[in-house]
Amino acid sequence: MIAAHILIAEDEPKIAALLADYLRMAGYESTTVGEGDRVLAAIAAQTPDLLLLDVMLPGKDGLQILRELRQRSTLPVIMLTARADEIDRLLGLDLGADDYICKPFSPREVVARVRALLRRAAPDAAANPFTIDEAAQRIFLAGRPVALTTSEYRLLHVLMTHRGRIYSRDQLLDLMHGDLRDVTDRVVDSHIRNLRRKLEDLAPGQSYIHAVYGAGYRFEVAEG
Ligand code: CA
Repeated sequence: MIAAHILIAEDEPKIAALLADYLRMAGYESTTVGEGDRVLAAIAAQTPDLLLLDVMLPGKDGLQILRELRQRSTLPVIMLTARADEIDRLLGLDLGADDYICKPFSPREVVARVRALLRRAAPDAAANPFTIDEAAQRIFLAGRPVALTTSEYRLLHVLMTHRGRIYSRDQLLDLMHGDLRDVTDRVVDSHIRNLRRKLEDLAPGQSYIHAVYGAGYRFEVAEG
């Protein structure tokens, strides 16, 4: 198997070198770019399998790079950010990052997130036991219909169609209710609780909807 190639967009040489070392020990190849203006060109030239993208870069910053990248590519991206409270803001911008890691981070954790993201981005990832009938607004788990209210259908549909993507409660509320303004975060939590119970009934012991501390929720299908 060919080693996955990770592009590291990070202007602090020590951090970049540390990441490169750990990635190499984990069996990945990597290249480092330290200037924001060169990141998109490096992606075009090297076609990496995943991008580790620092938010604060000289020249074009990470947000602008991701915005431009997402107009033409679904390349898996993990954002590196200096502050935990910035993650909320980044989620609110809905830039399309696949994951966020807060500095200071442990290189081991970065490697674990890289591995997890590559696995779920792989085309031959574990078979998805869910099917969606868009016309009938129904979702099936292992061939059996999940009994869903309209809100639950919308919620599960959003989470499933972007497997692994973290959604904040605010985003989920907007996607579920669009025009309604009197709903609160607790509504999301209550729908999530009901959804989990219904999925658990059909697939005991499996968990698909994961809470991400301080950020929101994401949907994942465990590896087989
Ligand atoms: Ca930086």
